[in-house]
Amino acid sequence: MRVAVVSDIHANLAALEAVLAHAETAGHVDAVWNLGDCVGYGPQPCECVARLRRADALWVAGNHERAATGAIDTRDFNPAAAAAARWTAEQLGVEEKTLLDELPERIDRGDIVFVHGSLRDPIWEYLSYPGAATAHLATMSVPFSFVGHTHVPMAIFEDAGSPDGCRFVRLRDGDAIQLASGPKLVLNPGSVGQPRDGDPRAAYGIFDEEDMVFTLRRVEYDIESTQRLMEDARLPLWLIERLSIGR
Ligand code: ZN
Repeated sequence: MRVAVVSDIHANLAALEAVLAHAETAGHVDAVWNLGDCVGYGPQPCECVARLRRADALWVAGNHERAATGAIDTRDFNPAAAAAARWTAEQLGVEEKTLLDELPERIDRGDIVFVHGSLRDPIWEYLSYPGAATAHLATMSVPFSFVGHTHVPMAIFEDAGSPDGCRFVRLRDGDAIQLASGPKLVLNPGSVGQPRDGDPRAAYGIFDEEDMVFTLRRVEYDIESTQRLMEDARLPLWLIERLSIGR
């Protein structure tokens, strides 16, 4: 089975469509797994929810799904994110909000568990530093996990020989990671709709479940079309500008 692993789409339909089309060019995509934050920041929340439903995606909740439905309040969001969350909440209908509210915080699938943030705090915690990563690795009862939330493509290997107890490896276009027995492994496909690693191209992963190989991919998309829609919606300027620089 070939799986497109997407995360942090952030209502950027042009990026999502580019990623799904790219995934199909190399062979049939059997499933889409989404690691959360389909909405928030971007201009097309309803369209992105509909597109994932059409793909029958397996989907865990992120902080932006929870904010969009009012399940968490936006006090902990920065001002631009809070403004975008309020705008997003106005766009979504009752049926969409019900769907988002019902999303699980984690999904267990054989040897893989997936969450948006981390196992100890699925909605909020960023696996961006060793302390958080080692706590997450210690909580894993299966060898592999997929996470999102940081918007930076990354592999984190459990590493008893390192003083941190783990090793972070940035993933770039084409990097392939074998999911093998041995140290536990965390994979983050980066962000489809708002990359933050300095590369503005959409990021996602292709996971080949038979060969147990995860390949990170980057895809060009029409950034300006998304930015124009954001201008029309009067979304905060910084959210528009950051798409051009991948920050
Ligand atoms: Zn996000």
